[in-house]
Amino acid sequence: MQSNIEFSVLKHAIDYAAANSPFYKKIFSENNINTDNITSIEDFQKLPFSDKYDLRDAYPLGLQAVPDEEVVRIHSSSGTTGNPVIIPYTKEDVEDWATMFARCYEFAGITKSDRIQITPGYGLWTAGIGFQAGCEKLGAMAIPIGPGNTEKQIQMLIDLKSTVLCSTSSYALLLAEEIGNRGLKSKIALRRGVIGSERWGERMRQRISDGLDIDLFDIYGLTEVYGPGIAIDCEKHEGMHYWNDFMYFEIIDPKTGEVLPDGEFGELVITTLRKAAAPLIRYRTHDLTRIIPHRCSCGREYPMIDRISGRTDDMIKVKGVNIYPGQIEEVLNCVNGLSSEYQVIIERIDGKDRMTLKVETIQDADRQKVMKEVLQMFKSKIGIRIFCDCVNIGELPRSEKKTRRIFDCRD
Ligand code: ZN
Repeated sequence: MQSNIEFSVLKHAIDYAAANSPFYKKIFSENNINTDNITSIEDFQKLPFSDKYDLRDAYPLGLQAVPDEEVVRIHSSSGTTGNPVIIPYTKEDVEDWATMFARCYEFAGITKSDRIQITPGYGLWTAGIGFQAGCEKLGAMAIPIGPGNTEKQIQMLIDLKSTVLCSTSSYALLLAEEIGNRGLKSKIALRRGVIGSERWGERMRQRISDGLDIDLFDIYGLTEVYGPGIAIDCEKHEGMHYWNDFMYFEIIDPKTGEVLPDGEFGELVITTLRKAAAPLIRYRTHDLTRIIPHRCSCGREYPMIDRISGRTDDMIKVKGVNIYPGQIEEVLNCVNGLSSEYQVIIERIDGKDRMTLKVETIQDADRQKVMKEVLQMFKSKIGIRIFCDCVNIGELPRSEKKTRRIFDCRD
């Protein structure tokens, strides 16, 4: 599907970056790359990757590929360590992003008649403003409430009869539980949820969808490449359609950098095709997924990636075994009597790794049985022995943003 893209489109993106971006001028000259010699997809696949670390070094505006008077806005990704990455946008970049985002809403069956309650934050981060611009482009009613203030959120849901909730999965779960506890489910009019920004498991999906009685759509994106809104699932939920008229996606082996065939899981690498103010060539997202090798049964031509199954940097190594959070969620899905929430605590005791999995049991669950099943399942699926702690449902923290679940206490 992906290979349908004309090489000339990619070539145009490379030439644009080579001519205008100080960041790529430097990369190409340091690697002795003459872009005139790139004449095939095979040549393209030999170009060096860009990574978040390189982008940070370009702080503050080293990525800017247009004159100042063409830049209308910047966004910034949250830097937990080091400099943040600043991404400038031209007027057209902002419009392109809104176009993609409006398309996302349409793929999720959302129309002008909808009322969209937007709970992601507004500001330097790309989230809230992206949801808002797409909503206005579509012509639906935006309720730009932003994060937090659950009382107000619930009041808006009831009084304004919001039909769409945009949020992180953590916050959608918090709202679903709160609405359930207060017996307000019959008073809200939600029918769809557009959920993004963190990976979430099947059980969490089920609890949000049952708790609010809504159809859920995964939206994908990252600040470096516009923001959220570059991929979403449609009503068939067979994968996330992505906009190959704006971006070129590759999947690589995160260790070797080799490009993998469609269908194989690896790290998503993105090249922007139209972004003017900060073009990116072969940008490593560190998100793990695959290109789905067939067309969606909805009949739309946009290709699909699978749900994000984790991040290359989410991996933890315990007792010599590499573990991704997605694998832990798979284990928890196989055991009855658990909620969707968990915490992993890793310590080193007497020179040995010790991993404790904290889980929440639902009411009336037989804890001894649940614990035994978790331990057995972990041993057989992941291959190591761990410890398991059960707590009551609701005891593990709920978050309005992203939930931290892994606590590595080893030095
Ligand atoms: Zn589809």
